[in-house]
Amino acid sequence: MMTTVLTRPLDTLADFPAIPFGWAYLDTAATAQKPRPVIEAITRGYAQDYATVHRGVYARSADMTVAYERGRDRVAQFIGAGSPDEIIFVRGATEAINLVAQTWGQMNLKAGDRILLSTLEHHSNIVPWQLLRDRTGVQIDVAPLTADGRIDLDAVEAMLTPAHKLVALAHVSNVLGSVLDAKRAAALAHKVGAKLLLDGCQAVPRLPVDVAALDCDFYVFSGHKLYGPTGIGILWARPEILASMPPWQGGGAMIDKVTFEKTTYLPAPARFEAGTPHIVGVLGLHAAIDYVESIGLEAIHAHETALVKATRDALSAINSVTLFGPEDSAGIVSFAIEGVHPHDIGTILDEAQVAIRAGHHCAQPLMAHLGVDATARASFGVYNSEADVAALVKGIERVTRIFG
Ligand code: PMP
Repeated sequence: MMTTVLTRPLDTLADFPAIPFGWAYLDTAATAQKPRPVIEAITRGYAQDYATVHRGVYARSADMTVAYERGRDRVAQFIGAGSPDEIIFVRGATEAINLVAQTWGQMNLKAGDRILLSTLEHHSNIVPWQLLRDRTGVQIDVAPLTADGRIDLDAVEAMLTPAHKLVALAHVSNVLGSVLDAKRAAALAHKVGAKLLLDGCQAVPRLPVDVAALDCDFYVFSGHKLYGPTGIGILWARPEILASMPPWQGGGAMIDKVTFEKTTYLPAPARFEAGTPHIVGVLGLHAAIDYVESIGLEAIHAHETALVKATRDALSAINSVTLFGPEDSAGIVSFAIEGVHPHDIGTILDEAQVAIRAGHHCAQPLMAHLGVDATARASFGVYNSEADVAALVKGIERVTRIFG
């Protein structure tokens, strides 16, 4: 049944100590397992080099500050930012989008303005804008999808008006794996004077990303989906936008001078990083980027594309299986089995040591559009192989036998 030959198979499983032999981990879109260099960077950060950053007068704190800021340089380089000052460390994509909504959005959007989202967005790219709508009266429009599950950019073009100030879209869908033509989305947004925010959570672990080439205005992602630690993520924005944004959270590290009468603030990135940061998280993220780039995103993309193809080919041969999303989805396959709840699929697969996700994937409007409450989702990472696909397919054949 497995006819697809991997053009560039990766052999990285041994780098991941938390993946035991025989366990098919197919939930990387939720969070990626961690390679040894990331675990070692975190361990070294706490067990050997630990100190605070930016404030200490002693050598270890100065060294840690250098290491921490090197992490910022590395992220900037990784996504093609013009300067490390454009990189804001946040907890994750969720916090990044809330930051943009509550600073840039609150300052620039008013009743009568419009925001364009799409049907396939993750809740974290919906709810922050609804909270902003409740405060400002801005309206939210929702772009439809094409029949195969891509954001319909022809429809986006037809919907956009000069009242639109922001277009906020997933670069890669966490449910369907569909890849946005982000350059075209940027051109369409800019034609009407709107900014483009890209939710890059599922894109950075599987595609080369260059924010300058994409011509977007904001780019966000979470470290933990990129083989890095949880609790660390990135907001990138154009420098002139960051310079115009008011502070978000107030506290230490973001101020220039504080008196009870008046406080002045530092420029970005410090202005948006109140409090002691996730120091070791940044070290782990740096190691994760080094790891991913040592393999190469083109190789990762080719690897995952081959696994997606093998999965789709095998599952489409099973009558009761419905596949969602486009054929060329990046690293993610969502599916349903007629008459079987996705949670039952997940439970039976777990008995066979296959870990998938079953649920609404924080995309309830997309579930409504697909006409389901939930889907089963297999998502791939660098450590997966055709053996995992075979285990998945065997498990699904068992599900179909059990449910007759
Ligand atoms: N957007 C997308 C497309 C995602 O897949 C996720 C995580 N499932 C998020 C946003 C939110 O990321 P986090 O929970 O790490 O903030």
